[in-house]
Amino acid sequence: EESTGRSTKKKVVAVVGGGLVGALNACFFARRGFDVQLFEIREDIRRAKIVKGRSINLALSHRGRQALKHVGMEDKIVSQGIPMNARMIHSLSGKQSPIPYGKKGQYILSVDRANLNKQLLTEAEKYPNTKLNFDHKLQDWTAETGLMTFVRSDGSEEHIKADLIVGCDGAFSAIRKQFLRRSRFNYSQTYIPHGYMELTMPPINGEFAMKPNYLHIWPRNTFMMIALPNLDKTFTCTLFMPFEEFEKITTGDEVIQFFQRYFPDAIPLIGVDALKRDYFRLPGQAMVSVKCAPYHIGDKCVLMGDAAHAVVPFYGQGMNAGFEDCIVFDEIMEQFNEDFSNHHIFFPLCVHPGAVLPEYTRVRVPDDHAIADLAMYNYIEMRAHVNSRWFLFRKYVDNFLHFVMPRTIIPLYTMVTFTRTRYHEAVERWHWQDKVINRGLMFCATGAVLGGSYLLIKNPPDINKFIIPAEKMWDRLTALRTP
Ligand code: FAD
Repeated sequence: EESTGRSTKKKVVAVVGGGLVGALNACFFARRGFDVQLFEIREDIRRAKIVKGRSINLALSHRGRQALKHVGMEDKIVSQGIPMNARMIHSLSGKQSPIPYGKKGQYILSVDRANLNKQLLTEAEKYPNTKLNFDHKLQDWTAETGLMTFVRSDGSEEHIKADLIVGCDGAFSAIRKQFLRRSRFNYSQTYIPHGYMELTMPPINGEFAMKPNYLHIWPRNTFMMIALPNLDKTFTCTLFMPFEEFEKITTGDEVIQFFQRYFPDAIPLIGVDALKRDYFRLPGQAMVSVKCAPYHIGDKCVLMGDAAHAVVPFYGQGMNAGFEDCIVFDEIMEQFNEDFSNHHIFFPLCVHPGAVLPEYTRVRVPDDHAIADLAMYNYIEMRAHVNSRWFLFRKYVDNFLHFVMPRTIIPLYTMVTFTRTRYHEAVERWHWQDKVINRGLMFCATGAVLGGSYLLIKNPPDINKFIIPAEKMWDRLTALRTP
């Protein structure tokens, strides 16, 4: 091993957090032969009766699928997902209009979060060099030594040392707390004024209550509801609205009145009784956006997934971005021959410091920050802009241009969802395309006005045809007055 330069093999990698990103990451590290230890605060969800989690289902797209492919799990997970080919917009009157996500054959998948998490844990466990430690809550750790303290539910403590600590412990990461104490660590956290609430739409006569292969959206400017299909023929509806609006509704009748006003077509599908009951099961849940940099400390620790970048869920990219983090880290390990040594501490001017962790920060921060911004942008677009004619017109123009010039014009949504174009490059390209298309449209509109005026001047119409002689006008007016 030493002779290949891969002296880092058999290093102990501690993955903290056994959620979606942690469990997948354990597979990535195990494939490389590291001694992987995964620590998760919860009980093993494969044995638990009730699985507490963020959302019930999520949209899996290209980036996430590519990551699953790396560990040989793509086909399995895809076969258990439900393709969604288009958004289905529900108007107030109940009219439904589809807006495709991309070209024909392009779709995103609705997958069950708990099932995905369980399958990833099972996959990680297949590697003999991986150990899953449940009921282990990371309490504290030291960056200098890599020593971690875990607390178990019986109150006992465990101290474990690792060569590399990978913080995959979600938006409220305990690993990140050490970063916050250090100089030159940038951090921002924003709670949006909206909360979310999940409601179940049961099957009707054993069939889906709405068309299954769509992501249903009820955009209502301030409020929005979406629904994703599940394998058991239910839909999980997620209602997004400002916390103060959630709190205004205090009785079952008020819930129905609210739905009557904004989502009338959903009432019979969810059911009056279920709505009255389920609305009060849990309060609205908060959504936070976290941005930070750098993602690493020395050669000891790195943040990935929501621990590094919690994003608001309006681009359906949180998990996908976290999964892509795993690919990017893996690619960098490959590129640097798994060299974690921090040469740049000794050779600060070295152009190519040869350390995986700083390179990961350098490459990934701009992309994860870009998707955090895009998700925030879509927070407004999804609930408000999809109602505007200009927005719909532009979507059609973009899709049409993409169809005619598939390499030159690529809609932003397509780049984000159906390619691995780096997020920050997708944003730059989007700004450029937007400028070009808007100028093109302006040019066409000006051309049409000028052309029309020219034709009118060249071939003036016979004005007399349009002018009604005075006596005829009088006849018409008197005719109008007669009953
Ligand atoms: P988490 O899933 O939060 O997992 C973190 C894990 O760490 C948990 O298992 C937790 O128990 C454990 N942990 C926490 N603290 C400790 C500790 N101290 N010690 C040990 N373990 C600990 N993304 C998409 O791509 N598509 C979507 O459609 C989508 N929809 C969403 C809808 C909603 C309403 C929300 C809220 C999010 C959505 N997301 C979506 C985002 C997605 O849920 C997250 O990006 C994803 O769960 C991140 O995975 P993670 O493993 O980084 O964090």
